[in-house]
Amino acid sequence: MRLCVIAGDGIGREVTEVAVEVLTALLPGLQIMEHEAGWDTFCRTGTALPEATLASARACKAVLFGAVSSPARKVEGYRSPIVALRRALDCYANLRPTRSLPLAAGRPDLDLLIVRENTEDLYIGEEQSDGETATAIKRITRHASMQVAKVAFELAARRARQRLCIIHKANILPLTDGLFRDAARAAGANYPQVAVDELLVDTAALRLVQAPQAFDVLLAPNLYGDILSDLAAGLNGGLGLAPSLSVGQGVAIAEPVHGSAPDIAGQGIANPVAALLSAAMLLRHHWQLPVKADALESAIRQLLSAGIATADLGGTASTRAFGRAVLAQLAR
Ligand code: ATP
Ligand code: MG
Repeated sequence: MRLCVIAGDGIGREVTEVAVEVLTALLPGLQIMEHEAGWDTFCRTGTALPEATLASARACKAVLFGAVSSPARKVEGYRSPIVALRRALDCYANLRPTRSLPLAAGRPDLDLLIVRENTEDLYIGEEQSDGETATAIKRITRHASMQVAKVAFELAARRARQRLCIIHKANILPLTDGLFRDAARAAGANYPQVAVDELLVDTAALRLVQAPQAFDVLLAPNLYGDILSDLAAGLNGGLGLAPSLSVGQGVAIAEPVHGSAPDIAGQGIANPVAALLSAAMLLRHHWQLPVKADALESAIRQLLSAGIATADLGGTASTRAFGRAVLAQLAR
């Protein structure tokens, strides 16, 4: 079994170090292939996603991705490597679960899954500007919408509540978001056991804050899925806890939802739970090792209920100390 590890920039490096240690403890035979990508790589080599990294990800079929910094302005030649990687590996569905964790502060009881389309929408990066007028292309295809919808319905059918809500803004964007909605409804016809409804993305944001328990699976185009999953993460205790797994044609990318967090990078205080829970998703969904995934998730839960946590959750553990505590808990 092989894992391509792309630590990336900022806290991506700190949290993947912990996740790799824990995965290696759970899977002693696991071969780790470390590769680079991201802003630092771009500054040094002129490319954000080197060929060798992509080739290794393809060969390993499993990727652990930390985080990369992307500049919030146009830099010639730079393209976000994670967006490129998801597209190159045809990881067309991004699974972003939010489940309550035992935290000190009172939080709503949450168990929802956002399934985000991962290859198109505004993320195709087709922008133009003459300095006065700027335009971006939002591309939605029936094919990509259907294939992500199938993943979402498949997962909804296996969950207790079997509910799926399609997120869109078809009142403003009837052609693009309307196509996404209609393709999703068509895919859903094969899953009569799943109760389907739909919400405008703004209403979904409101409901998520007011009554998040009402949601089971949310299916969303790329951009709305990104925004709503940060919202869900915020309700649940922050970005330090939010995992994701991108899946598609046999390759899986585990990646925390958070970015490179330049504000806390290099201090050794980043919360590694999001990366660890992403690793657990890799164990469960990609490697079909649910017992190991359960062991990892329950070790994390036990530590959090005992008040062992990083600073974002009000604790005092460093990134590495939390990692050591997980290893100790697993060894019990
Ligand atoms: P990027 O452009 O790479 O996404 P960002 O500035 O948007 O960087 P994020 O990583 O998205 O930063 O984080 C947003 C906020 O959440 C930051 O204040 C960051 O410190 C905090 N945060 C994110 N991830 C973690 C984590 N794993 N542990 C603790 N705090 C985190
Ligand atoms: Mg961010």
